[in-house]
Amino acid sequence: SVEIRAVNKYYGPFHALKNISLSIPPSKVTCLIGPSGSGKSTLLRCINFLEEYDAGEIRIDGNLIGYDSPGGRKMSAKKLREMRRSIGMVFQQFNLWPHMTAQENVAEGLIRVRGIAKPEAMKRAADALAKVGLGDKIANHPSRLSGGQQQRVAIARAVAMEPKLMLFDEPTSALDPELVGEVLNVMKALANEGMTMVVVTHEMGFAAHVADQVAFLEKGELVGVDEPAKILHHPEDPRIQAFLRTYH
Ligand code: ATP
Ligand code: MG
Repeated sequence: SVEIRAVNKYYGPFHALKNISLSIPPSKVTCLIGPSGSGKSTLLRCINFLEEYDAGEIRIDGNLIGYDSPGGRKMSAKKLREMRRSIGMVFQQFNLWPHMTAQENVAEGLIRVRGIAKPEAMKRAADALAKVGLGDKIANHPSRLSGGQQQRVAIARAVAMEPKLMLFDEPTSALDPELVGEVLNVMKALANEGMTMVVVTHEMGFAAHVADQVAFLEKGELVGVDEPAKILHHPEDPRIQAFLRTYH
């Protein structure tokens, strides 16, 4: 689980996250929604300390990330690397190595970070790619894969590292509409396997059908968090109502 408690984040004078508290339960899908600039990416990136939060606590399975103690000194780079090993992240841009095949892209982290021997890493990479429906594309370089296929490679690469938590930041936003479904289906399958997931998304259908809870942010504030049926279909807060109207 992830426990976010009274987290504040400033970019210079700009107050980007305002006292955010949110519990991310294990083996559940939490979707973060809200207008552009509301702080969704910032909050997601604070969870693996890609962004430093300024006050509050973020704990992953009870362990504080980023600092030695609440309000204390920053944790060592080594300790942070260790904690990040259990967290996978998938971005809007797939960030694959262009000079490597899909299989090599997935194997790379297993070899470099996990220290697994190349033959075993290549085998696990092939298995991970088969699981995302790319068993016949493992030898393709990214330039010879569609956007949806490239994003599935990126997911396979993260999942092959056997994380206990997966963070997604608008994983389908860079895709042509007809390629969105195949990526969402892979994410849905991962959710069904019990992966703990935090997903920033504009895909309200995905949030409605796959999320266990949906959190709505606006102007750095957590305006509401609830099960999708309540937040998406019967929102009480007028800010959420106004936001959802832009999707109809
Ligand atoms: P979008 O839906 O457009 O991705 P978001 O909800 O992910 O938006 P964030 O990227 O978290 O929003 O940004 C929240 C606010 O913080 C925005 O007003 C943004 O301009 C500001 N911000 C983000 N990153 C920085 C930065 N590195 N320096 C200064 N301000 C930043
Ligand atoms: Mg964002």
